[in-house]
Amino acid sequence: MIQQTLVIIKPDGVAGGFTDEIIKRYEAVGLKIVKRKDLNPAPLEIVEKHYPMDSDYLKSIGEKTIAAGQAVTSAEDQGRKVVGWLRKFITSGPIVVLVLEGEDGVKLARKTTGFTDPSTAEKGTIRGDLGIDNILDANREGRPVYNLIHASGSAEEAQKEINLWFPELGQ
Ligand code: GDP
Repeated sequence: MIQQTLVIIKPDGVAGGFTDEIIKRYEAVGLKIVKRKDLNPAPLEIVEKHYPMDSDYLKSIGEKTIAAGQAVTSAEDQGRKVVGWLRKFITSGPIVVLVLEGEDGVKLARKTTGFTDPSTAEKGTIRGDLGIDNILDANREGRPVYNLIHASGSAEEAQKEINLWFPELGQ
């Protein structure tokens, strides 16, 4: 099924000069760019909705710290800290927001993007090839792990995020 998904090239991706390379990687697997919005910076009200302080979401982020080998007293509290760092970071500089479209687009974009932590992301993925950071260093420095991109995690999330970033599409 042809599906749309949302990708954000984060401030580390744009400032690092990776925008064109990242777009090429998605196009190379058959995804088409149907919308693009360059923002500098992104409005905080949108970023707060994009990264909500929702209990299940916070836990899932905190679990990534635990999986990276750091003990925490509460996954949810750890997730809350990370989301605070993320909101600040995403609104700190230029980003590029894209709607991509293709066969099984949501899964295909996630697969091309790779795992959250670039140090353990599979080679051949964007994060695995271009990312140089890791979760443990990022936690120590009180910032989100730099992994260049956001890509929607499910079809439902994609629809919600497209509406949020491109309300003018009226979908
Ligand atoms: P994604 O879907 O792979 O982007 O990951 P999530 O939605 O779980 O997390 C959102 C973003 O938060 C990630 O892309 C990372 O930049 C950051 N992040 C997630 N987990 C951690 C963590 O345990 N520590 C730090 N420092 N950053 C994290």
